[in-house]
Amino acid sequence: MASLKAKRFYDSKAWRRARRKALLEAEFKSCVDGSDVSGRARAHVDHVIHFERAPQLGLDPLNLRVMSPAQHNQRHARADYDPARQGCDESGWPSGTSHPWNIMQKRPWYIKRK
Ligand SMILES: [Zn+2]
Repeated sequence: MASLKAKRFYDSKAWRRARRKALLEAEFKSCVDGSDVSGRARAHVDHVIHFERAPQLGLDPLNLRVMSPAQHNQRHARADYDPARQGCDESGWPSGTSHPWNIMQKRPWYIKRK
């Protein structure tokens, strides 16, 4: 179950604003298959790194992605989706494509900007 901290977060104005921005930026398209998720209750905004694991990334636009409720449920039903459980290669680089290091590598501007 979601913690009290998570409940407060998801009730916050800041989260609703970040969520809205993520939806606009994604043009209401699912990051999984590009399908249209506009319309009431058709979109979920997911945390790449789960909120419970990294609350400090809760509002980070790079940690947010848009998908349908069904895709979201599917994601959470799969424990192997957890980037922390996907292991690494022989150099120690994480193999999970959703691992923040791999996300940042695909977006070098993110590193430069910081
Ligand atoms: Zn999620």
